[in-house]
Amino acid sequence: MTVKKLMVIGAGQMGSGIAQVCAQAGYEVLLNDLKDELVGRGLGVIEKNLFRQVQKERITSQEKDEVISRISRSTDLQDANDVDLVIEAAVESMDIKRKIFAQLDEITPEHTILATNTSSLPITEIAAATKRPEKVIGMHFMNPVPVMKLVEIIRGLATADEVYQTIEDMTNTLAKVPVEVNDFPGFVSNRILMPMINEAIYTLYEGVATKEAIDEVMKLGMNHPMGPLTLADFIGLDTCLYIMETLHDGFGDDKYRPCPLLRKYVKAGWLGKKSGRGFYTYE
Ligand code: NAD
Repeated sequence: MTVKKLMVIGAGQMGSGIAQVCAQAGYEVLLNDLKDELVGRGLGVIEKNLFRQVQKERITSQEKDEVISRISRSTDLQDANDVDLVIEAAVESMDIKRKIFAQLDEITPEHTILATNTSSLPITEIAAATKRPEKVIGMHFMNPVPVMKLVEIIRGLATADEVYQTIEDMTNTLAKVPVEVNDFPGFVSNRILMPMINEAIYTLYEGVATKEAIDEVMKLGMNHPMGPLTLADFIGLDTCLYIMETLHDGFGDDKYRPCPLLRKYVKAGWLGKKSGRGFYTYE
């Protein structure tokens, strides 16, 4: 099966990036969100990104216009009635995702593949909301989507081989690198990254070193581009806590228990860069 037309659900941080890279690769894209102004906000981000690429002479102004012209606005899931693929990037909530997938199962043609960009929720459970679990798959893009090369492709329990192959081929056309992963809590990326961040928070909590020292050790000693506490602030401490809880619940293993300091910061509303304060303060 070849993909020509697709819908991206959610025009936020991730959805707008996914719509951009798909349109740049020549796909016809419907960008869907709950309200037209939210779709407009996502399109505004895409225009700004493309404008920067024109300024850097990576694309021409005409190419930018062509990419924009391949993206249509949508506020009605019914618009997915003739797409080959849906990539869902709405909020990280099992209830919302299951509702969206159940509706898509009714609306989309039989051949349509339903993908989710979830960073932690089980693909198999989302797939169970549909009557086509063999056509449900995870496509976990990294943030910021136009820059980051990796897409973790997650097979649910029932995902068919042909569906996996179609999505792997499609990912290659986006100039991204697909990596195959099975459906276990945190997949590979967050199963390894989040316990490292959580351990850095424990290191701070136990007074082993200052936040600056912890970040410096990991940057200079391990060649990480960013220290783990700075990275946690960028990801959002609420998101970090949510993913640690998913690992803790999913494996039932105390080695994934979230650090009490992380819980405390989230309760205080110190969510990182987006709220102006996390481990560091932001203007
Ligand atoms: P975001 O809050 O920036 O965007 C989510 C968008 O979805 C919002 O515009 C919201 O209005 C829209 N939305 C909510 N319910 C909807 C519905 N029923 N129908 C249509 N649109 C709806 O969030 P984000 O950071 O872009 O994350 C989106 C998804 O991507 C989440 O599942 C998240 O876990 C995953 N993800 C995020 C990152 C990251 O670094 N932010 C990385 C990888 C994956």
